[in-house]
Amino acid sequence: MFTDKSDIYIKAGNGGNGCVSFHREKYVAKGGPDGGDGGKGGSVIFVVDSGENTLIRFKYKHKFVAANGEDGKPEKFHGKNAPDLVIPVPPGTLIKDKATGKIIFDMGKDKTFVAAKGGRGGWGNVHFATPTRQIPRFAKSGTPGGERELTLELKMLADVGLVGFPNVGKSTLLSVCSYAKPKIANYHFTTLSPMLGVVTPKYGRSFVMSDIPGLIEGASDGAGLGLDFLRHIDRCRLLIHVIDASGSEGRDPIDDISLVNRELFKYSEELLDRPQIICANKSDMIEDESVKEELKAYCAELGYEIVFISALNRLGVDELIDKVSEMLKDMPPLKEYEPEIEEKEPEPEDRTIRVTKQDGVFIVESEWLERFINNLYLTDRESYVYFERVLKKEGVYAALEEAGIQDGDTVSIYDVEFDYVL
Ligand code: GDP
Ligand code: MG
Repeated sequence: MFTDKSDIYIKAGNGGNGCVSFHREKYVAKGGPDGGDGGKGGSVIFVVDSGENTLIRFKYKHKFVAANGEDGKPEKFHGKNAPDLVIPVPPGTLIKDKATGKIIFDMGKDKTFVAAKGGRGGWGNVHFATPTRQIPRFAKSGTPGGERELTLELKMLADVGLVGFPNVGKSTLLSVCSYAKPKIANYHFTTLSPMLGVVTPKYGRSFVMSDIPGLIEGASDGAGLGLDFLRHIDRCRLLIHVIDASGSEGRDPIDDISLVNRELFKYSEELLDRPQIICANKSDMIEDESVKEELKAYCAELGYEIVFISALNRLGVDELIDKVSEMLKDMPPLKEYEPEIEEKEPEPEDRTIRVTKQDGVFIVESEWLERFINNLYLTDRESYVYFERVLKKEGVYAALEEAGIQDGDTVSIYDVEFDYVL
């Protein structure tokens, strides 16, 4: 069965922990700190694979977890960075927040999206060797990788969508217009997943045509196969509404037009304004010529263009292609969905610093400080000096002194623990 919607869970890798270690060597009495940094956790990244057009790979696999970064090791060995977990999706996949259904990102052509960032590796104690602090017994732990629950939803990128009852000849039309090889058979619902084909007119620009599986009455309420596929019409710039003009299955083609349109508009009112061409197929089998006149009059009344073709014999197909290409020329490009969720983290307001003393350890807390420390990636002496300077400037040291800290007392700021040296 065709799958174009799936809930998944993703988790980026945690950063590896920094290492606490001291250099050991024969005849060297007291080695310096040499604990290496932890490696970066793998991020979860979506990329577009233009060769795919369903979300079938997400039908049985719902959990995507990137590897954690390796912990740092003695002798200044940096833990290995974990590789990113790359998830290919078909073009036109919307990435949504599962809980709210809001759009996070639209995977248009050639797009890449980092959905969860890998955690940073913690820094090893090798960075803490300052002249005043000879025995740094602390290292930073890695930060956790991001995780989230997502819904993937495919809304294909096709300029033109073929809509209509099953068996009217949509797949046949696509196969004669393009190199796509859809399944064609004389029974309903042979098309179980939308097919795409590139149509190249004699003059003018090529466009992408998609065969959207048959609509039947009640499709907008979820009957038959309809609703799953209606989603793919959303982006189409133009609809080719295919009918069996010969009424070979005993239905009246005029009824078919109004019925299918009723389903489309019930599904989305936006489709009311979507340009439509009526493609009267199977005209090779029309026995009563007056049917043609009736259809023309009906379409004229509704303001639709109508083209009579025989997809099977490839009659009138070029005329249809030219007309479509002409209409597309003046139409807006394919719709791109704007994110409905801001990806940026909100700026925390609270900058008050709280110092509490527990079991002789001075614990410093502040919303701002937590964020600052999480975002800090200290890899060298300079960044450590910067860290110290910020603590001083923002009043952390002053707050500690006010709380009565003495030389050699231990300070704990979120993941970071160190000895206070005057
Ligand atoms: P879909 O369900 O709308 O995709 O319809 P298909 O393309 O699978 O075609 C259904 C049946 O109608 C097949 O047996 C086709 O050979 C036949 N068919 C398609 N186009 C024409 C046509 O122009 N004339 C005639 N006589 N038969 C056609
Ligand atoms: Mg078909």
